[in-house]
Amino acid sequence: MIKKQYLNSITFLQIYSFLTTAIYGCFFFIHYLNRNLSPFYLPLCFIIVWQALFILFSLFPRNIIKTLCMFLLIGNAIALYFMYAYHIPVDKIMIMNALQTDQAEASEIININLIATIILLGILPVIWIGLKTAIHPCSFQRTFKSIILSLSIILTCCILAPSQTSKLMHHFKYLQIYLPPINYLLSGGQIIIEKLTPQPPLQRLTDDIKKTTISGKPNLIVFIVGETTRAANFSLNGYHRPTNKALTPYLKDIIYYPDTGACGTSTAISVPCIFSVYNQKQFQSGSEQYTENVLDIFKKAGYKVRWFDNDGGCKNVCNRVLYEEPCKNKTCSDNILLNNLKNTIQKSKKNQLIILHTRGSHGPSYHLRYEKEDDLYAPICTIDDIWNCTPEELVNVYDNTVHYVSRFIAKTIDILKSLEKEYNTSLIYTSDHGESLKEDGLFLHSAPMETAPKYQTEVPLLIWLPQNNLYHLNKQCLKNKASKNKYSHDNIFHSLLGLGNIKSSYYQRELDIFAECKR
Ligand SMILES: [Zn+2]
Repeated sequence: MIKKQYLNSITFLQIYSFLTTAIYGCFFFIHYLNRNLSPFYLPLCFIIVWQALFILFSLFPRNIIKTLCMFLLIGNAIALYFMYAYHIPVDKIMIMNALQTDQAEASEIININLIATIILLGILPVIWIGLKTAIHPCSFQRTFKSIILSLSIILTCCILAPSQTSKLMHHFKYLQIYLPPINYLLSGGQIIIEKLTPQPPLQRLTDDIKKTTISGKPNLIVFIVGETTRAANFSLNGYHRPTNKALTPYLKDIIYYPDTGACGTSTAISVPCIFSVYNQKQFQSGSEQYTENVLDIFKKAGYKVRWFDNDGGCKNVCNRVLYEEPCKNKTCSDNILLNNLKNTIQKSKKNQLIILHTRGSHGPSYHLRYEKEDDLYAPICTIDDIWNCTPEELVNVYDNTVHYVSRFIAKTIDILKSLEKEYNTSLIYTSDHGESLKEDGLFLHSAPMETAPKYQTEVPLLIWLPQNNLYHLNKQCLKNKASKNKYSHDNIFHSLLGLGNIKSSYYQRELDIFAECKR
């Protein structure tokens, strides 16, 4: 028979909180030191976190404390794995991304190391607590007294080092994303509250939109929303490898914007923000669910608006326009979006706006993102636990994805060229955000915007306009401006309206990259 260790709930929670702080607080304390807080304050900071966790756990109903702590152990193990493996914090955006991840993406993240971490740090301690400990809930009065004692300890620490404590409070908003279980409990709670809060009525942007007349040929605007392809590895951006070689035949008609900032560092933020009337600073995640966007405006203006997806959905951007996901098993290369494109376009003689949402350079399985033709740089990283790859292997495999992205853009241009007689064609390409490839020890994306490296925030933006287009744009003027000015995803909403010749009270001319180059 297994001999059980009998503990009262206060002793159990003090031990549990201490171990949680010591084991799972490591990234919190590393980031604490990175924010120039004194290392001499570290012991006091440790005590504050320990006692704060104790108070938090003590607030839960006494009869479920043991079960709750066992659940949190599993959650902590998963959170620690992602923070350690990919050097990414666990915040609301990260959890939203995880919830929106499709099966194929999830299978790339689940690997033997994740399972081993869950078993070692989660399941084994859970079994040990389950079998070896018996917890007697303390009375309400005793629990209350112990909370008061913990508060007094925290207060004493604050009095001993007031300036450091105030700095800790100031930075806590950024530090808590590195402290399980606080990070996922707070973020998860925020997401649940948002989901449960009744949505406001649809905020309309289309009341003053009039139908756009077709003069000559109908407009055909194709907008490719890329995924995880960073500007730094675009040869059009000055990168030393010819990753954009496939676009060479079209360079005369391409305007490339070398200084373009993303709206966020994750798909869940960036994709809705790109199409939103709000700029990066104003955009509130979640507002896309109840606010019309530029696609609604195009639809109201008489455009046929269609979203073709190969990247796990349109993140509520396409809720009121036609949506199609040609890949049924979710593991297709982006080329599937082009298979039927020409025929689909030719079925309509209206003005058209087509969105192609691609999987682009999405990791960690970069090697699955391209075809044999793109396998140019070797050796490559072929494992999902990418932190075990060398930087060289990572950059090689990533560059192969960029080569594929270029070929995809080139193929789309070819389709548009074949339609030039029937439509007034144009193409815009940008990526939702960039990617870290082990620079400064960081992987993937989703770093907080305030601290994100430029690899995650600088994205490619290019526009292709054929020789005989009817948009009345001076290409040389666009090229001159592109090389001199700073741009961002904030420009997309207004530039699309400008290109589509749509009048709207939400249009801001100064953000339309075409406005000053109209002939
Ligand atoms: Zn993305």
